[in-house]
Amino acid sequence: MVSGMPPSLILLAALTPDKHEVTLVDMFMGDQVDYESEVDLVAITVRTPLAVAAYEIADEFLRRGKKVILGGPHTFTLPEEAKSHASAVAIGEGEELWPVILKDAEQDRLKDFYVCGPYPVEGLRGSVYHERERPSLAGLPMMRRDLLPKKRYFMDSMFTTRGCPNHCRFCPVTDIFGSRIRHRPIDEVVAEVATLGRLYFNVDDSVFGHPQMKDRPEENQYYLDLYKELAGLRPKRLWGGAGGLSAVNYKDGRRILELAAESGLSAVAAGLESISSKGQKQSGAWRKLHYTSPDTFNLRQMKESIRTIQDLGIVIMGFFIVGWDEDTVETYYRTLDFCDECNIIPFIFTLTPMPGSQIYREYREQERIFTDHPWDHYGGGGDYVVFKHPLMPENEMLKANAEVMKRGYSMGRIIKRTLHAVTHSFSLYVGTTSYFTQLGLRKVYRQLYDQIQARS
Ligand code: SF4
Repeated sequence: MVSGMPPSLILLAALTPDKHEVTLVDMFMGDQVDYESEVDLVAITVRTPLAVAAYEIADEFLRRGKKVILGGPHTFTLPEEAKSHASAVAIGEGEELWPVILKDAEQDRLKDFYVCGPYPVEGLRGSVYHERERPSLAGLPMMRRDLLPKKRYFMDSMFTTRGCPNHCRFCPVTDIFGSRIRHRPIDEVVAEVATLGRLYFNVDDSVFGHPQMKDRPEENQYYLDLYKELAGLRPKRLWGGAGGLSAVNYKDGRRILELAAESGLSAVAAGLESISSKGQKQSGAWRKLHYTSPDTFNLRQMKESIRTIQDLGIVIMGFFIVGWDEDTVETYYRTLDFCDECNIIPFIFTLTPMPGSQIYREYREQERIFTDHPWDHYGGGGDYVVFKHPLMPENEMLKANAEVMKRGYSMGRIIKRTLHAVTHSFSLYVGTTSYFTQLGLRKVYRQLYDQIQARS
């Protein structure tokens, strides 16, 4: 699997005063935790599928008398749960909170919760430090990429904006970062990209912005100016990012796409979510694909938008969720057919209602969440089903998911998509990168298939 440096960790490291020594541990890349190390403070980013592991590590450090801070998306949603494994919990974005936490830790007066953003804090049991405003993204220091061995990462990562107006029903991002989009100043982004390697990933939620927001023309202008600047950088870098299809429908949006391609955008992870209007409606994804209502969704238009982006030499990785209430086992296979027809790299997975999302709250109320699944079953990679579907039994969903992902990475399909990438991008480098990335994924999904077969 491809992996980039974890931007949140290297940014917090950069915000740490020089008098402190910082060591980063990236367990995704196989780092081991050294419990014997003489640290004063341990800070862990908690994502839901890794919450069990994070809590075990936190508990062990607490047992050894160390101060432990937990932050990240999972603590945003379940701060009280996190607090039972930590000296203090950070809720929201960390830039403003981290220096305060460090100072309080030094003086041995840590509060229970550190909150950044306009969230209600009255219900939190314990002492609270609350910074109401979300942080500005201007003037951030250069991330400490020197703290991790650069060679082991497939690519660099960076970000330009935070916030998402779309509020998809399966995604907690709008709640976490807000619906108003905040940008980093263009000169700061360009200066940072100039320090990166040949390949990088922009971790923003939408690298094409949101051209549908006609009342915010400055949004479009930001991307137009940014990509013009990045296109002028030498040597030229290739980059990837996430984005919907809506830009295709607007004049400014199409110009943003062209300039993004000129600046080196070579692959986009597109959250397409469903091939049916009912799935689009239940997911709320129709807003980001930019239909005026879920009922106006049609596959023909989706195909055309995909083709427009591919014609600019951009490879599309299509992310789909199966498990919306009207979906059947057939939906897995029809979604793969759609990916085949459009030459997009398939990521088709069973719905995992993530804590913090609207779907999770609704399903909990409806008692559709299976409460016997630990958080590490919430990885969203097709290996567990954690909710009750009205039409499909769990084992059928698991098998169909594993089978389409295995089929989706047959050698024939990989070669066909690679040739499509080369002929549309006119770049052997893009084709080779696409090919080897898909080979890595082929291995992962064959393992998933074997694992599901062995369990059934
Ligand atoms: S899925 Fe993407 S577009 Fe939808 S709310 Fe989340 S970040 Fe925004």
